Amino acid sequence: MTATILDGRALAKTMRAEINEEVAKFKEKYGVTPTIAVVRAGEDPASVSYAGQIQKTFEKRGMNCVLHVLPETASEDEIVQLVAKLNADASIHGIMIQEPLPKGIDEGVVKAALSPDKDADGVHEVNAGRLAQVAPVGRPEGVGPFFVPATPAGGMEILRRYGVELEGKHAVVVGRSNIVGKPMALLLMRENATVTMCHSRTRDLAAVCRQGDILCAAVGRGKMIKGDWIKPGAVVIDFGVNFDEEGNMIGDVDFEEAKEVAGMITPVPGGTGPMTNIMLMKNVLEAARRQVEK
Ligand code: NDP
Repeated sequence: MTATILDGRALAKTMRAEINEEVAKFKEKYGVTPTIAVVRAGEDPASVSYAGQIQKTFEKRGMNCVLHVLPETASEDEIVQLVAKLNADASIHGIMIQEPLPKGIDEGVVKAALSPDKDADGVHEVNAGRLAQVAPVGRPEGVGPFFVPATPAGGMEILRRYGVELEGKHAVVVGRSNIVGKPMALLLMRENATVTMCHSRTRDLAAVCRQGDILCAAVGRGKMIKGDWIKPGAVVIDFGVNFDEEGNMIGDVDFEEAKEVAGMITPVPGGTGPMTNIMLMKNVLEAARRQVEK
């Protein structure tokens, strides 16, 4: 059996066309251009390249992206002051803080300085807390509006658009970071999946993974999840971004093995990756909408 490929690249293309239309309508109705501010301190090459990508994709959709680059030597206070200035700037609707921040800077302090209303990547504790407390779908939400980190939101969008049934399914999520694994587990639970979260202390990880009707990998270890860790017919969502010795991008899942066992699988590259920017744009558009309609 060869798995159906969950084609994030094709899905992102479809969604870019949808966003073009939504942005155009928004600008016509309100005369406002949805704008993200990206804050970086230092010149980490991955962050520089990611910021460039964000700028390009936002501008192509008719949205603005303003880059704020502080030196590697910037203090926590300087970064927090910049964030406060952006919070108060009505022309900025979303803010993203790029990581890693320079050594000695407490990321928690910088994230807490963000306005939750402009927290484009759902990292502020108010947004994370609301996601943790939101009711399952179909029940009254019970919390205020919030933003979900773009990467797991993209994984969920792939599942939704490919019509993957989640209710009552066993979802196994490997990785518990605040930006990928944990929000992914909460989003799956919200959709009434039964969720198991795994991490570096999980015993017999292979056996736990084999129970998953849905298996999500957010670890950061190339090809760690082997074909015989996967339940036949399972849906596999691979968030991993790793590079092999030849410099090729590879996922956390051994794709060649896994595609012979899984029912559906995201490739790397071309799976979850292209969806991240899309969901970030959707968050900024939504933030702009909430701010102008206030
Ligand atoms: P983190 O390093 O923050 O978290 C990794 C998680 O994996 C931790 O919870 C850790 O456990 C767990 N882990 C590490 N080793 C093992 C192991 N041997 N067995 C089981 N669990 C293990 O990474 P991120 O969540 O930020 O990123 C995860 C992956 O997703 C990376 O490859 C990253 O590049 C990628 N990524 C992809 C994005 C996209 O757009 N597709 C965006 C963001 C990230 P513990 O908590 O116990 O330490």
